Amino acid sequence: MVFTPPSYLPPLPELPDSITIEEFIRNEQYGRYPLAKARNPYTCGITGTTYTAAQVAERTDYMARAISKRLGFNPQEESEWERVVAIYSVNTIDYLPFTHAIHRLSGIVTPASAAYSIPELEHQLRTSGSKAVFTCAPLLDNALKAAAAVGIPKDRIFILRTAGFDNPPSYVTIDDLVAEGKELPPLRPLKWVKGQGARQTAYLCYSSGTSGLPKAVMVSHRNVIANVMQVSVFDSVPRKALGIETQVALGVLPYSHIYALVLVTTLGQYRGDEVIVLPRYNFHELLDAVQRFKIEQLFVVPPMLIQIIGNRDKAAKYNLDSVRYVYSGAAPLGSEVVEELTGMYPKWRIGQGYGMTECSPTVSSTNELDVLFGSSGSLLPGKKAKVIDLEGKEVTEYDTPGELLIQSPSVVLGYLNNEKANADTFVHDDDGRWLRTGDEVVIRKSAQGHEHLIVVDRIKELIKTKGHQVAPAELEAHLLSHPYVSDCAVIPVFDSYAGEVPKAFVTKSADCAGKADSDVEAAIHKHVQDHKAKHKWLAGGIEFTDAIPKSPSGKILRRLLRDREKKAREAK
Ligand code: AMP
Repeated sequence: MVFTPPSYLPPLPELPDSITIEEFIRNEQYGRYPLAKARNPYTCGITGTTYTAAQVAERTDYMARAISKRLGFNPQEESEWERVVAIYSVNTIDYLPFTHAIHRLSGIVTPASAAYSIPELEHQLRTSGSKAVFTCAPLLDNALKAAAAVGIPKDRIFILRTAGFDNPPSYVTIDDLVAEGKELPPLRPLKWVKGQGARQTAYLCYSSGTSGLPKAVMVSHRNVIANVMQVSVFDSVPRKALGIETQVALGVLPYSHIYALVLVTTLGQYRGDEVIVLPRYNFHELLDAVQRFKIEQLFVVPPMLIQIIGNRDKAAKYNLDSVRYVYSGAAPLGSEVVEELTGMYPKWRIGQGYGMTECSPTVSSTNELDVLFGSSGSLLPGKKAKVIDLEGKEVTEYDTPGELLIQSPSVVLGYLNNEKANADTFVHDDDGRWLRTGDEVVIRKSAQGHEHLIVVDRIKELIKTKGHQVAPAELEAHLLSHPYVSDCAVIPVFDSYAGEVPKAFVTKSADCAGKADSDVEAAIHKHVQDHKAKHKWLAGGIEFTDAIPKSPSGKILRRLLRDREKKAREAK
């Protein structure tokens, strides 16, 4: 049984398939809000520096000219895989214009998390085949070390200006590139053939998908265009009902994650909104920016809302009256959080979206005109869903749990160089190609008779901490490299703030003989903290065990460990 978007939605317009995201954003022919009337797309929430829509378009063009010259990029002659460029930076007002400059050159951008350690960045630079790194002053040292490890020379490292930091001397900045590009001749137009936008990768985002290590996800130009148009059409219904034409939105979520990259920034620029860009999450800076810039829409992850609830006295010192809509994504938003916040701020409308990197990213969104308790929303236009039970049989009834499968023009091209993961995740049947989400859902009808998704559990290995991905397989491989660990398994455990945090079950090696458990534990924690981003630290603790439960084929039985953990917590 195929589930579909609600009938009240306007249809999805035809998607252009031979243009870049840059052209889609620049050219009014594709439905973007008129450039001349649009708000300033990007304003720094710390310094107030702002660009008009026309300036953003101009900066993008100048940047592209200078990057083309400095890096010798030649779209007419080489494959786009010769033009992969990494961005390893906190959020800045140049982040999206920079990615569009690379797209203007028919290149590929791989956004790396600003939380990454040197080895994590090195892994991404190596597996993506990056030819240059765009970074920022606070991350320059890490970027230099990771780049050196993969053979990227220093003159291929560039700097995005960051609020509160001086530009490091002797590095070329984005502002230098803009000034340089202004003096260079215009670029030749890109001549893409029909279908190239659907085939060519725009972003290489990293996700562990349903199992294993983080992998490079090939997100095409058309994938992003599709998701921007899907959300834009979906939102047009409540926006029309509420008389919203354009608005001021919060840009605090990390742009390295596809939620912020596509939904907050690209969508914002497309529909003429102003995004107030904050380099990284800080409770007071966020509330201060809302007050100063009269932000109307907050894009958040659940822990940010939980922090407002837990610090209501501090939050009350800020005037947050401008907020009309709060949109949460990347992890489940508890209904008790919504109730609590609505009590504190009765004028706030609160909704959530469900999505994943492999769907570029949004699958469903809530709509306050069609409310269903516990819902993660209904499908966006142009999408279809199926649900399959544990035996792989298609579910044909409402309210019956099973794994969600999605069909959409935003479903990505696949994982780079990983046939096994591609075969496991992108499956085919008589109705075409489907994305296996690894999420357990039920489909339920609202009072108005529209189908809603309710996410009930996660079948896949993935752990989500404050909206960030943590891949158990990555942590397990790292733990096994420590001499004290003979075997291990990592699972998610509930955390009232972060949603979930990783916990490790460890079988000690012979090297631990005569050592106190507390010393072994401290050494293992340090091993993780020294090499992994903070959200991957074992905040759920370490438990020593005699054996890790495994199937006859050697697969870790995480479900058994999760159940064991749940029982132990309930007994407390
Ligand atoms: P990512 O690829 O990092 O966006 O992670 C995608 C995963 O996050 C999904 O497959 C879900 O497991 C989880 N997720 C995202 N949004 C929600 C939501 N609204 N409710 C529950 N889980 C979510």
